Amino acid sequence: VKDVRISRISSSIRVIPDFPKPGIMFQDITTMLLDPVAFKDTIDLFVERYREKNISVVAGVEARGFIFGPPIALALGAKFVPIRKPNKLPGEVISEEYSLEYGTDIMEMHVGAVQKGERVLVIDDLIATGGTLVAAIKLLERVGADVVECACVIELADLKGRDRLGDKPLFVLVSST
Ligand code: AMP
Repeated sequence: VKDVRISRISSSIRVIPDFPKPGIMFQDITTMLLDPVAFKDTIDLFVERYREKNISVVAGVEARGFIFGPPIALALGAKFVPIRKPNKLPGEVISEEYSLEYGTDIMEMHVGAVQKGERVLVIDDLIATGGTLVAAIKLLERVGADVVECACVIELADLKGRDRLGDKPLFVLVSST
């Protein structure tokens, strides 16, 4: 059964065509943040799924993983670890390069933030090609973490990013085509 909360969440997300460039249908979650019921329902749905899963780390991907990750981490009693664009984190980092539509980008994580064997949930607002989540998973697995699942509010299903995650489970609230 589809949770009635999902339709409110789905309709609270605004789609802006041709941002940041022509042809991109930008899924804007800032309008969801203006609806405290939809925002709370989003957090609650994730917390309900992960409450009994012994998650000790919620890793949020810059930038919008920083909006959804911390309230989930607090509710689970887990730590929050930011995974950031290059040259943002001040301490010692490990880096992972990943490919974009044009060129490459880098994700970084602080050394020492996650311990070997910790059970991690990776959070972002949206999965498109999956490249960002793959880079985040690699960073976490390089330090010996157990990435239990990735979770996003929105999946652009046509891009089949889910397939790039291999056997790593992906949980999404809204699947968009
Ligand atoms: P990808 O690595 O291709 O899965 O892209 C996912 C990342 O890019 C996420 O951090 C998203 O926030 C952002 N992103 C990609 N496509 C969109 C889109 N159509 N609307 C909003 N954000 C997007």
